[in-house]
Amino acid sequence: MQITATQLEQVNKQILALVAAGSFYGKKLEDAGISGVSSQEEFEKLPFSEKNDLREAYPLGLMTAPEEKIVRIHSSSGTTGLPVIIPYTAKDVDDWAIMFKRCYEMAGITNMDRIQVTPGYGLWTAGIGFQNGAEKLGAMVIPMGPGNTDKQLQMMMDMKSTVLCSTSSYALLLAEEIEKRGIQEQIHLKKGVIGSERWGEKMRKRISEELGIELYDIYGLTEIYGPGIGISCKEDTGMHYWDDYIYIEIVDPVTLKPIPDGELGEVVITTLVKEGAPLIRYRTHDLSRIIPGECACGSRFPRLDTIMGRSDDMMKIKGVNVFPSQIEEVLKEFPEVSSEYQIRISHLDGKDTMRLYVETNGSVDFMDLAKRIAGTVKSRIGFTPLVKVVELGLLPRSEKKSKRVIDERYE
Ligand SMILES: [Zn+2]
Repeated sequence: MQITATQLEQVNKQILALVAAGSFYGKKLEDAGISGVSSQEEFEKLPFSEKNDLREAYPLGLMTAPEEKIVRIHSSSGTTGLPVIIPYTAKDVDDWAIMFKRCYEMAGITNMDRIQVTPGYGLWTAGIGFQNGAEKLGAMVIPMGPGNTDKQLQMMMDMKSTVLCSTSSYALLLAEEIEKRGIQEQIHLKKGVIGSERWGEKMRKRISEELGIELYDIYGLTEIYGPGIGISCKEDTGMHYWDDYIYIEIVDPVTLKPIPDGELGEVVITTLVKEGAPLIRYRTHDLSRIIPGECACGSRFPRLDTIMGRSDDMMKIKGVNVFPSQIEEVLKEFPEVSSEYQIRISHLDGKDTMRLYVETNGSVDFMDLAKRIAGTVKSRIGFTPLVKVVELGLLPRSEKKSKRVIDERYE
């Protein structure tokens, strides 16, 4: 995506602020003798920033605005080592809500909707982001947070919630509970705004059909405001993102060279107007591509494709590079398996082995199904997994991010 003159001007302001604050990135720029950029070429020479840089800045090393302007912090859940702390000014909080309001509007949600927010509240950016955007829109928020499915469903019925904000795995869990309890008639949901994890077409179809709702994918990460920097539209051809707040480029995850629109690579984000903690060329490790051309919905905002996985999810099996999304693509061709699956990679007798667990109901021949799936993986991706077919409902469902890939080689 070509950077515009306005965006370059905005980047230069971010650079000035970072240098003045003497933050880690400001120092990087000073060391490289850079005080501004005037072209795409110069922009693409700016150093990247990484989660590790952000961790090293713990606790408040990212703070770029004066203390009196900081109104809040958020933190990304670090499973390893130090968390990342992102300071926000009042303008950052407001900008985020404006972006999120646009997301709801893109999904056709109005101030007459009742929005049930199930992502968590607290240090992370999920629940409060969904809430602030909904309040900016003027909708009624039902701030549930995660878990407590009984109460969740009770409020959904009593409040006649029309919009569900959720992770895909929790939406699936709710859909299954609603079916099990036979309460479909008392549910008034029309739309789902689903964020924070990658999900397959199959799971999407199941949630959409069982709840009878339209689904919208929302994109975002704590380091860059939080969820709400982009969302899919009714055409469902990728997610529009707000290029007056962020600039997105796609780079090759190995060479780090920018790659053309339309091709798959790692998403790199630059904030354009952030005050509390601006980030330049932040490597998200999300895999996607810019979708070229105009969207049929008429929106002028550019599009990022559905996130295909993480660049660090790349598995190397018997010398072949594999992404979980490729396995998912194969499973889509088998209507007899459910949307749940699990990949376990181990090192057995000197060889890398992938065991692929899938679920089905009792009506098919498990051995035959396993053989057909293994054969398709071999012909599409180039190696043969050990496929294990289990009864429907045996694979773990989670209220948090599903952990679908378990690499036992490093445990
Ligand atoms: Zn569109």
